[in-house]
Parts: sequence; structure tokens; C-alpha cells
Amino acid sequence: MIAFEYRTPGSLEEVYADLKELGSDGKVIAGGTALVIMMKQQLVQPSCVISLRNVAGLSALSEEKGNIHIGGLVSHAALDASALVQGKLPMLGETYHHVATQRVRTMATVGGGLAHADPNQDPPPSFIALGASFKLSSAGGTRSVAAEDFFSDYYETALEPEEIVSGVSVPLMGSNSGAAYLKFLPRSADDYATVSAAAVVTLDVNKTTIQDVHIAMGSVNATPVRATASEDVLRGQPVKPEGLREAGEKAKEHTDPVSDFRGSGSYKTQMAAVFVRRALEQAIANVA
Ligand SMILES: Cc1cc2nc3c(=O)[nH]c(=O)nc-3n(C[C@H](O)[C@H](O)[C@H](O)COP(=O)(O)OP(=O)(O)OC[C@H]3O[C@@H](n4cnc5c(N)ncnc54)[C@H](O)[C@@H]3O)c2cc1C
Repeated sequence: MIAFEYRTPGSLEEVYADLKELGSDGKVIAGGTALVIMMKQQLVQPSCVISLRNVAGLSALSEEKGNIHIGGLVSHAALDASALVQGKLPMLGETYHHVATQRVRTMATVGGGLAHADPNQDPPPSFIALGASFKLSSAGGTRSVAAEDFFSDYYETALEPEEIVSGVSVPLMGSNSGAAYLKFLPRSADDYATVSAAAVVTLDVNKTTIQDVHIAMGSVNATPVRATASEDVLRGQPVKPEGLREAGEKAKEHTDPVSDFRGSGSYKTQMAAVFVRRALEQAIANVA
């Protein structure tokens, strides 16, 4: 690893000023679980690292106007342990609980994970299925980007060079809704997903017909993807095993996975169909 300067600004304004001054020579660091590895491997070589650790106002977790707001610096472990999240959006806590190990979850942050944008990460499919939006902030102000539009390619996002992920807003689910996130882990419990699927289902008052549904997958393409073809075959349809199976099969239209040590591309595509169906079954079973 090459020598670098380490700055610890105490406010967002100072972070923005540092990013403006340093341009592509500066990189923010949050938990450091991804950035430090990339620096050691010399995949990135910033001359200055700007820590977000002392910046006030990025670690809040709150509920307001029907949304859960998560500060960019909230750690995976804090989100997983949050009574608010466990009570109102248990699927999100479950999702973060499945990231790596306790040691990684203690350090890694929500904003750092999203900015890292590895397509095998767990939280993005859940955020997409839940209809979350990300707050991207810079000296010029804050804009909101839908989770679905944030990821653009392997390790690439909608973030501009002087922007940071300052927070995430997740709408609470309405009545007759249920959600589930499933991660296929055939190798070890702390691995990245071979494939993953998140589903949020809203049933009618009789709980017999699917009124609305959002499905997203991880590890099956260059970015997390929404399975709109699966959603289309389910909306307005009665809850039936054959419908859920067809939705799983339709998910294959959105997959283009790489072959690697976790499985061949065609195996991952087959498993995506299975895990989308299972996530739908679980989400329906979880309807409150
Ligand atoms: C051993 C190991 C196993 C893992 N397994 C999993 C897994 O199973 N599932 C999973 O989902 N993830 C997994 N991860 C990845 C982990 O989720 C990421 O490393 C973590 O989320 C990154 O968060 P961080 O706060 O440490 O980011 P950092 O390492 O601090 O930063 C990562 C990147 O984001 C930028 N950045 C940081 N914060 C912000 C911000 N607020 N705004 C804009 N840019 C920012 C940095 O400049 C850097 O480019 C694993 C990581 C490790 C080390």
C-alpha cells in the first residue's frame, strides 16, 4: 500500500470541501472493510483518505412520515440490532444480518456498502424490492435516487465524484404486505451469495389475490436487478403455486451471471428461478 494522507473532518461541509479540493486524489472512508482491501491490492491509490467517522448527523436511525430513515454511517450491526427495524421492517434487519461476519458487520456502514456496489452484496436487492431511495449529498445540495436506478455497472453507481451517500429512506409497508430476503449460500455461512432474491408482496383484503409485488435479485448480473417480468405475471392474480413457479421462471429473463467458483452461469440462472419462487412463498407467508 502506498503512503497516503488521512483526514478526519468533523462536519459534512468539511468533507465536501476536502472532496472539492482533492478531486480524484481523495477517497472517503467509512468502515474501511472494502476500501482498505482495494488499497492493499492497489486497485485504488488515493493520495488522501477522508474519514466520515467524526462527521455528525450521519448515524441516525428514525421513523418519520411513513419512512424509516437510515444515516449513511449506520453500521450493518446497528441496523440489524435496531428495535425500530426489527419491529417495522424485519426483512431489512434479516438482510443485514446475513452480510459476512459480526466483525465485518460491526465496521461496515450502510452508505459505504451502497457506494461499493459489488453486485454480490445483500442489501441492494432488498432496498430495490422495498422501493427505497438513496440520499446523495454534496456542497450543491441533496438529491434522491431510487435504489433501482442507483447501480449502473460492476462497482459503478449514480454517485458524482463530489457526492456521498448521506442516507437511505425506506417506505414502511402497507397492510396485507409481507417481505422476504433469501440468500443461497452453498459454501459457507459468511460467504457472498451465489444468488439472492428479495420479494415484497401486497395481497388484497381477503389475502387471496396478489395486488402488488416487487422482486429483485443479486449475484445474477452486473448490478442488482429488478425482476419486472416476474412481477408482471403475478399482479392481479390469485395466490397459486403454479403462478409463483411461473414468476420464478420469468426471473431468468433478467439474469446474465458470470461463471465463477460459486457456480456456472447456467446454474446460477436455474437457482435464481428457485430462490425467486421461495422468496415469494416466504413473503406471502409473512403477510401480516
Ligand atoms: C470478508 C468480507 C466479507 C464480506 N461479505 C459480504 C456479504 O456476504 N454480503 C455483503 O453484502 N457484503 C459483504 N462484504 C462487503 C461489505 O458489505 C462491504 O465491504 C461494506 O459494506 C463496505 O462498507 P464500508 O463502510 O466498510 O465501506 P468502505 O470500505 O469505507 O468504503 C467502500 C467504498 O465506498 C466509498 N464510501 C464509503 N462510504 C461512503 C459514503 N457514505 N458515500 C460515498 N462513498 C462512500 C469508499 O470511498 C469506497 O470506495 C464483505 C466484506 C468483507 C471484507
